[in-house]
Amino acid sequence: MSSIEGKVCLITAAAQGIGRSSVEAFAAAGAKVIATDINAERLADLEGMDNVTTRLLNVIDADAVTKAREEIGDIDILFNCAGVVHSGTILDASDADLEFAIDLNIRAMVRTIKAFLPGMLAKGDGAIINMSSVASSVTGVPNRFVYNATKAAVIGITKSVAMDYVGQGIRCNAICPGTVDSPSLQDRLKATGDYEKARADFIARQPIGRIGTPEEIADLAVYLAGATYTTGQAHVIDGGWTI
Ligand code: NAD
Repeated sequence: MSSIEGKVCLITAAAQGIGRSSVEAFAAAGAKVIATDINAERLADLEGMDNVTTRLLNVIDADAVTKAREEIGDIDILFNCAGVVHSGTILDASDADLEFAIDLNIRAMVRTIKAFLPGMLAKGDGAIINMSSVASSVTGVPNRFVYNATKAAVIGITKSVAMDYVGQGIRCNAICPGTVDSPSLQDRLKATGDYEKARADFIARQPIGRIGTPEEIADLAVYLAGATYTTGQAHVIDGGWTI
């Protein structure tokens, strides 16, 4: 395990949920965190925190990612946390739903890696962490066609980048959480129309008996940033869902 103290770490989708907890965890571990998101209001809550700077960044805007790279310079750790959940089967998925999820869950990640990887290669050191899910190639979750498909692609991206650069100081890992309590999870529970039943159903999927916390996922991200002997893996953290 190497220390991440003083390392520059860019986190996408950092304003709430797992991204926000990760900002706090990386900063507490001594990293210099650049917290990015499209939500200016929620990002503003992070301003003034030790070791944290904030920046508006829409990861589906290719020019904005290029500009961010130019203005920020080299980084040591990239945590691609941005993603969107679409509910429904293949027959419920419109072209627009699929296109949007491909753009946010897949292309955005490719864009940020392409932007920041050359700087990591020049230093011969870099850690990339990509947010996948157990709803991916790990397990097929019902009614999550677009999500399963795009999060499976994240694992493919992770393995490909890890394999191509394993001899050049770059590690690339994916995180595959089960259900985690975040603002968007709360929105999904409310959208069912029966919050208590939906919550009970979600808890029932996790043999450990509860939904995960964003802090638990953030701790794994910090671990992976400094875990010098793991690369190309899909790290499952799911309360026993896929035992
Ligand atoms: P969330 O969905 O509550 O918040 C997502 C954040 O992403 C918001 O702050 C939003 O403003 C930001 N965002 C949206 N579009 C963006 C864009 N184009 N550019 C930059 N930022 C953008 O957070 P969460 O539930 O913790 O999810 C974070 C990641 O974890 C996602 O990739 C999600 O798929 C994954 N994940 C979540 C769970 C879960 O149960 N919550 C489980 C497995 C994986």
